[in-house]
Order: sequence, then C-alpha cells, then structure tokens
Amino acid sequence: MDQKEIGIYVHIPFCKQKCYYCDFCSYAQKQELIPNYIKCLLQEIQEVGQTNKIDVENRKDSKLLVKTIYIGGGTPSYIDSQYITQIIEQIKTNYEVADDAEITIEVNPGTVTLKALEDYYHAGINRLSIGLQSTHPHLLQEIGRIHTYYDFMDTYRLARDLRIF
Ligand code: SF4
Repeated sequence: MDQKEIGIYVHIPFCKQKCYYCDFCSYAQKQELIPNYIKCLLQEIQEVGQTNKIDVENRKDSKLLVKTIYIGGGTPSYIDSQYITQIIEQIKTNYEVADDAEITIEVNPGTVTLKALEDYYHAGINRLSIGLQSTHPHLLQEIGRIHTYYDFMDTYRLARDLRIF
C-alpha cells in the first residue's frame, strides 16, 4: 500500500500578553480556557486520526506517515508542559509517527522553565523555535514583547546546556 508523508500543525492560541504588532490567533489572560481547549484538541486529534484510519481501510487510501509535528501559537510554552506531553502522546496514539520525525515547539523567552524543557524532551520534541524577534532592547519594548535579549540568551543556554536539542 502507498504511504503518504504528512505534517501536523497544532495551534496553541494563548499568550501571556498580546504584542502590539500581533495579528495571530492568540489570546492573553484567558488561562481559564486552557483546560477545555486542550480537552477539545485531544478529542479532535483522536477523531480525525480514527477517520483517516477508516478511510485507508475502506477506500484503500494511502497510509499516512507523520514526518513533522509543529506546535505553534500563540505561545505553546505558556501552557503547562504536561498539556504538550498529552498532545504528542495523543498524536502518536492515533497516527503512525516516523521514528525520525521532526517535532518542534515554539517557545517564547520569559515563559520557559527547566522542567518544561525536560518534559518536551521526554515527549519526543527535538526542535525548538525560540521567538526572539529583535536583539535591540528598545525595539523589544516598543513592540510589546514580554522578554529581553538576556531572557532569550537564558532560554538558549538552558536548552544547549541540557543538550536536549
Ligand atoms: S507572542 Fe506571538 S502570538 Fe503571542 S501576542 Fe506576541 S506575536 Fe502574538
């Protein structure tokens, strides 16, 4: 049977604070919505994954192989890292994920902890996208970012020191 390689994008629409220039789908100070959003997301991953499996069997469609998973936002590192673990586990349960799949998470400086990075690593994440935007302190302030350049360097060094990426 044919095999079709696919990528899965998961959107986490929550941020600590809204940057002035942002027109992405993201909401600040809506923590109370996070548990329900994750619950619905896990359900959707399961439903779509199962529907795909049925399509493969009934219509002899190509078998799907996930080559990339990208968790973007918003600020995925703003939500509890246990939610990220649950999302990846749910994808692995409902899809065939390649052993060498590239699994990325977007993180923003000022929202990342050592424990979160360790959890990401154990969940299988092997690529970080760190949202720096600018190395100029005044510009970061002007565009409403919550972090400094030094916060970015702290996040970068933490990830490198742990040798988990
Ligand atoms: S961190 Fe990104 S998604 Fe969140 S408000 Fe800023 S630009 Fe928008």
